Amino acid sequence: MAFEDLLEDPVIQKYLHELVGPKGMPVAAAPPDGEVTDEELAEELDLELNDVRRALFILYENDLAEYRRLRDEDSGWLTYLWTFHYENIPENLEEEMHRLLAALEDREEYERNHEFYLCEVCSIRFEFGEAMDFGFECPECGSPLESMDNDRLVTAMDDRLAALREELNVESGA
Ligand SMILES: [Zn+2]
Repeated sequence: MAFEDLLEDPVIQKYLHELVGPKGMPVAAAPPDGEVTDEELAEELDLELNDVRRALFILYENDLAEYRRLRDEDSGWLTYLWTFHYENIPENLEEEMHRLLAALEDREEYERNHEFYLCEVCSIRFEFGEAMDFGFECPECGSPLESMDNDRLVTAMDDRLAALREELNVESGA
């Protein structure tokens, strides 16, 4: 098996699991050295061929596997020979964390810049403008909408943002 060091990292295991799902995980967790066909993988891992192909395609879409096609001259049958490219995992993970950081920054700004009202009966949250439109009464049950403090949520987001920025070695955008 190739890339054994990478695959010991629980972060990388989780990343692969999220990509291919539980059925694809046996494929993703055991990349062979060199080329392999989907049929060989299905037989070796005792999996449905469709599950193997699905996992391979997801890896391919994420630049973690590629294939070349061979045509059998007699039968005209096509064989796909797959190679795993897990050396691209660290770069993919870093890109993913940058996307996560950007999304969290947007979310934190939204939380910080809006006031919220809550129906405690229905657990539905409204922005100030919506709450005002409804006359500060829940449109579902008619209960009064209560002003809601989201400071703790914003603080938790700020902590997570600081940790992410430190890990990615980027300055605060705010
Ligand atoms: Zn309600």
